[in-house]
Amino acid sequence: MEQKHFFKVIRKKILLSMILVPVIPFILILGIGYYYFVTSLEINTIASMKRISADHREIIESFLTERRSDLEFIAGSYTFQELSRPKALAEVFNRLQGKSDTFTDLGIFNDAGLHVAYHGPYRLTGKIYKDTQWFQEVMKHGYYISDVFLGYRKVPHFVIAVAHEEKGNKWVIRSTIDTFRFNNLVRKVHIGKTGEAYLLNAEGMLQTERHSGGNLMDKPLDGIQYPESHRSTKSFIDKGVNGVKYLYATTWMKDKKWLLVIRQEKADAFEALTSAAYLIILIAVIGGSVIISVAFYLTNGIVKRMTQMDEEKDQLGQQLIRASRLAEIGEMATGFAHEINNPLQIMKSEQSLIEIFLSELKGNGQLSQSETLVELEDSLNQIGLQINRCAKITQAILKFGRQSDPVAVDVDFKQFIPEVTAMVAKKASVNGISLKENISEDTPLIHVDPGQLQQVFLNLFNNAIDAIIERHGSSGGELVVESGPKENGKVEITVKDNGQGISPENLKKIFSPFFTTKPVGKGTGLGLSVCYGIVESMGGVMDVSSEKGVGTTFTITLPAAISAGL
Ligand code: ADP
Repeated sequence: MEQKHFFKVIRKKILLSMILVPVIPFILILGIGYYYFVTSLEINTIASMKRISADHREIIESFLTERRSDLEFIAGSYTFQELSRPKALAEVFNRLQGKSDTFTDLGIFNDAGLHVAYHGPYRLTGKIYKDTQWFQEVMKHGYYISDVFLGYRKVPHFVIAVAHEEKGNKWVIRSTIDTFRFNNLVRKVHIGKTGEAYLLNAEGMLQTERHSGGNLMDKPLDGIQYPESHRSTKSFIDKGVNGVKYLYATTWMKDKKWLLVIRQEKADAFEALTSAAYLIILIAVIGGSVIISVAFYLTNGIVKRMTQMDEEKDQLGQQLIRASRLAEIGEMATGFAHEINNPLQIMKSEQSLIEIFLSELKGNGQLSQSETLVELEDSLNQIGLQINRCAKITQAILKFGRQSDPVAVDVDFKQFIPEVTAMVAKKASVNGISLKENISEDTPLIHVDPGQLQQVFLNLFNNAIDAIIERHGSSGGELVVESGPKENGKVEITVKDNGQGISPENLKKIFSPFFTTKPVGKGTGLGLSVCYGIVESMGGVMDVSSEKGVGTTFTITLPAAISAGL
């Protein structure tokens, strides 16, 4: 339970760091990228707006200058007298229209403000303009462009007037500009979908119509900001009265009398910004999901591996406990064998004594040969045999237990192998296993600790018997031990069984400590790893070949003893 909680906490921590470590720089990079993109886009958009506004001002100003030049040219080319004749004036007007059809009328005024001649759609001849502002201005400065006004004709229009001096007398030529054409000229800007241009006079009244709504002489209530100097351009963002945000560029014209306003809806001007924002959100979502999925995947993998390792550690602990218990049992068995040896010796001598007495009694003729006597002698022999057998077993156990100080002696396989097989003979016969020994006569001696060698073979035999029982049950098993000389002064011993065999996958692991396929409580997985170590320490090599369902062969190659004369 505690362990579970521990892994939960670990999982949380790993997950969090795996997400945060890449996500923080990822977000930072996105954020910084977006910031620089926004800044540069804003700077560029505003700069281009200002440039358009300046260019447009040049166009409008040059249009007005050209119209003024037209009038100045007429005033210089004709006398007051000539132009005062309506016919002549009409002729001049027509010629003027041929050059530029932006004039709607033409009028001549004397220095007293009297409209002496007029050509156009209204009846204005004879009217006195002496007190009007435009007349006073033109007389004073020689040139005048009005704001849009209603005038006598009650239609919004604006005029350009030029004064000319002739023989000491001033007279004025005035023309009305076609508001429709002028409107078109001013409004002709192409900026995005919502870009528009319009003119305001100093009082904020519209001098041209406005795309987004607004008639001539209306006074829009949008918060307009004005540039400081004549030729400078001001740009700003403001919410229009319609609630929409606009990006503005304003510039003065006509000696600060008119203001050219160019504006575009902010969303339209910064459309790329919206696309960039969506793109960044998309990248953030995709990138974030990838980071989170990878973090989950890796964390789950790590935690799974950790849990596995923890379980393996627990298993190893259990196996270690079992192995140490087995070691203790081994020690106890050695003790028992030692204890049993003494009574066995006494029984042996007592049995020998009885044998002596019996033969004495027979010799004296005190015991006549009878069936009972034969049976008695048989029993006595049997007791002797069994005592010897027990003695052999206890000797073997004692030899097995004497492991602490390996003492190498010359070992002859012809004797040694039968001793070890004797220890498993019973187990083998009970399970119907035939035990064969092919120890060739020329098998050289080897110089090793017999106790350790015994441990190796006992383990191999026991494993083989287990594998045979697994496959055959209690009949049909075969266990063969063979030995013989090998080249280069080596001895080869093989232990071959026809048991269940080992799968290729397990074959790679069988020499690893704690690897076992046996049920809990039966195998420790230490046997082969210890055998491997023992054979290696003897200067030998241990190998295995196996086929699943056919059998297994362990091969041990050991150096022959020097005394073997090789
Ligand atoms: P243990 O016998 O305690 O399992 P070992 O190290 O002696 O440990 O053996 C490891 C494993 O190798 C066994 O569990 C078994 O699966 C396999 N093995 C060893 N010898 C044989 C054999 N002769 N036939 C089939 N499998 C074997």
